[in-house]
Amino acid sequence: MSFDKNKWQREQYVRRKSEGICVCCGKRTPVSGKTVCEVCRQKARERWREDYQFYKNKGICVRCCKKKAEPERVLCRECLEDMKYRQRRRVARKAELLNLNL
Ligand SMILES: [Zn+2]
Ligand SMILES: [Zn+2]
Repeated sequence: MSFDKNKWQREQYVRRKSEGICVCCGKRTPVSGKTVCEVCRQKARERWREDYQFYKNKGICVRCCKKKAEPERVLCRECLEDMKYRQRRRVARKAELLNLNL
C-alpha cells in the first residue's frame, strides 16, 4: 500500500496542536486562539490573495477554483447558491435565538 499522506498530515496536525506549536511549520508558537503562527498566517493570507487575483482575472470561481464565475461575480452559480443558503440558515438561526430570548 502507498504512503497515506492525508493520514500523516492529519496526525501531524493533531500532534502539533496538542503540543501547542504551529500546525503549519511546527516551529513557532501559534497566535493565541489559532492553530498557526503569525508568519504562517501572513503567508497563507498572501497566498490566498494571489490565488484570488489569479482566478478572478481568469473569470474562474475563487471558491471552488473549478467552474466559471458568474458575470460581475467572483463565484460560480453553485457557490453563490451555497453562500446564499448558508446565509439564510444563519439568519434563521439568529431569529430562532432571538425568539427564545423573548
Ligand atoms: Zn508557523
Ligand atoms: Zn464555485
